[in-house]
Amino acid sequence: MRNLNKVLISLLSLSTLAACAPESQEPVEDNESSEANATNETNEETDTASTEEEKLSVVTTFYPVYEFTDQVAGDHADIEMMITGGTDVHHYEPSARDMAMINDADMFVYSSDEMETWVQSMLASLDNEDLVVVEQAAAVDLIEAEEDEHAEDEHGHEDEEDVHAVDPHIWLDPVLVQEQVETVKEAFINIDPDRSESYTANAEAYQSDLQDLHEEFEAAFSDAEQRRFVTQHEAFGYIAHRYDLTQMAVGGLSTEVEVSPSRIAEINQLVEEFDIPVIYFQEGANSAIAETVANETGAEVAELYSLESLPAAVEDDGQGYIEAMKRNLEALEMSIQ
Ligand SMILES: [Zn+2]
Repeated sequence: MRNLNKVLISLLSLSTLAACAPESQEPVEDNESSEANATNETNEETDTASTEEEKLSVVTTFYPVYEFTDQVAGDHADIEMMITGGTDVHHYEPSARDMAMINDADMFVYSSDEMETWVQSMLASLDNEDLVVVEQAAAVDLIEAEEDEHAEDEHGHEDEEDVHAVDPHIWLDPVLVQEQVETVKEAFINIDPDRSESYTANAEAYQSDLQDLHEEFEAAFSDAEQRRFVTQHEAFGYIAHRYDLTQMAVGGLSTEVEVSPSRIAEINQLVEEFDIPVIYFQEGANSAIAETVANETGAEVAELYSLESLPAAVEDDGQGYIEAMKRNLEALEMSIQ
């Protein structure tokens, strides 16, 4: 793959041949290619480079992993996303189609062994010795899960659904995301050094946007006196940690954790004590628990994106992670004042 790229790139630099099948190494004389050449000459807008180059084939797990990888890769990779359409990432099981896709890929990118707990066993059953595996969390210190009682049922048993010992939601901190982007950039440069300048420029541009986003959060919360917020899914610990806020979660680090009536009563009390105006639920989730607390306390409910998938409202506007996080900021400003 890499050698083929080198051959193609030197071919391209020697001639101005246009669209050729990347697999063929002798297309210069054939009719299709001269037709394509003619077309391109009459249409200067056509980006010939991106259609000619052999693209890396990359498989990513879920939305933010996809987005951060795509931002670095630019036009140099075809990137698939395994988990789409609101499927629960916390309880995912790879399909036969996923396995086939990864067996044919150059690179597989996931967030962390803490989030995608199924990755290591999946990798062990693959038949792809050349696969480059990238864990975006490689350079990130994950936050320990808080020792508290709400993942236990009335009998004091730890809830087995809550599979996480540390908080895996590392994509919700714009500062840590810059490190995740750095890890992806290094992986692309390793596998495809000829295009290192492009990967570096793409990563730097995105990191600069992420830094701006971080500064917006910082500025919005710097003078707030009320720094508590209540969520349904305990997904926002990294935002709380970064901006010195306190997340009070009704549910757990994982989704589908059963919430005990005593936990709901406890949260009700806190909401009343601190006069919390909003209970957040995450996109794609049943808002019943948030609504229960809201009804009992007179608070409102609002959406806060955990970004385990791209919210339809953001996607429909042609936007991605940065815009979704700006909407998260607006939503949090209903509580943090
Ligand atoms: Zn989650």
